[in-house]
Amino acid sequence: MSLKGKNAVVTGSTSGIGRAIACALAREGANVMLNGFGDEPAIENERMRLAREASVEVLYSRADMSKPNEITTMIEEATAKLGSVDILVNNAGIQFVSPVEEFPADKWEAIIRINLISVFHATRAALPGMKARKWGRVINTGSAHSLVASPFKSAYVAAKHGVAGFTKTVALEAASFGVTVNCISPGYVWTELVERQIPDTMKARNMTKEEVIDEVLLKAQPTKQFVTVDQVASLALYLCSDAASQITGANLSIDGGWTAQ
Ligand code: NAD
Repeated sequence: MSLKGKNAVVTGSTSGIGRAIACALAREGANVMLNGFGDEPAIENERMRLAREASVEVLYSRADMSKPNEITTMIEEATAKLGSVDILVNNAGIQFVSPVEEFPADKWEAIIRINLISVFHATRAALPGMKARKWGRVINTGSAHSLVASPFKSAYVAAKHGVAGFTKTVALEAASFGVTVNCISPGYVWTELVERQIPDTMKARNMTKEEVIDEVLLKAQPTKQFVTVDQVASLALYLCSDAASQITGANLSIDGGWTAQ
């Protein structure tokens, strides 16, 4: 498969799953706009390295996914500089773990803004161009938590269930325009997002780090292994291929059997 000539925006691609998806798309020949937070000189090095290695154009937007106007500007900038946005990967996400009665309201709302509302703003900005060109791929990073719940993750589970519903609705609206809209729903992938929630889970459940990994994280996954970012990126690449043109409105699990239980 070649994605030469296609242009992609991957939100939250300065780390973890998004970074792996952006690299995979670039290696298949797509020009990519990176997005996310982090150390700017390090991001700039990564941007230049990826552009050089993959021989594609790689841009970076520091748009904050909690701010609708910055999201719209990011899509406009990608369209102006690359010529189009053919592939949109709505991946940026944050997590916070707390019993619902103690959940800080600002954290709850930030999760809904970044993990769910941003998906709406980026999609509505990118979709008209995809429909006009009769080709497009919208890939939303869902989660096993778009299908099932875990305690202490009320905001995240609400946001990810929302992403799954939004995906199905937009898939129906875009179906006759050559545009597919799907969710990839990983189980636990070893990234900074997972590492960062370990201390709060230790506190909420009164456990050691090892107990959290074995009895909370990997307990959910029958394979007893973390999913890798490259496995998620391979699924995203597949969804961009012509072979996947009839897959739309799907929520594809890549979770070591978690949601089969
Ligand atoms: P990560 O923390 O490694 O990466 C998150 C990315 O989002 C980073 O690039 C970060 O800078 C960016 N980001 C955060 N807030 C942002 C904001 N306001 N604006 C712009 N960018 C922002 O996490 P990850 O594990 O790679 O998570 C990526 C996606 O995968 C998230 O949607 C997450 O919910 C989902 N997910 C992760 C797992 C897992 O186990 N790691 C499992 C299922 C789903």
